[in-house]
Amino acid sequence: MAGAKGQKKCPACGKGFRARNRVHVYCSRETCKAGRRSNYMKKYMSGWKRKHPNYWRTERQKEYMKQWRDAHPAYFKGWRDKAKRRGKGK
Ligand SMILES: [Zn+2]
Repeated sequence: MAGAKGQKKCPACGKGFRARNRVHVYCSRETCKAGRRSNYMKKYMSGWKRKHPNYWRTERQKEYMKQWRDAHPAYFKGWRDKAKRRGKGK
C-alpha cells in the first residue's frame, strides 16, 4: 500500500480509499461525510474557545468539575485515604 498514488486512509472509518485530490480526506461513505461536517465544527469550536478562554475557565469549568466529582466519588475518596496514610508514615 505504501507509495500507492492517491491512496489515503479515511480518518472517520479508518479504511483506505482512493483520493481524488489533496483536499479529499474522507471516503465517500455517508457516515464519513457526516464525520467531515463534525470535524469542521470541532475546528470551529476550538477557534471559538481560543477567542473566549475565560468562558471555559470559569462557570463552565466549575460546573464540569462538580459533575465529574459527583460521577467519580470513589476516585476522590481513594485519593484522600492514600494521602492520609502517607501523612501518618505507616
Ligand atoms: Zn470513511
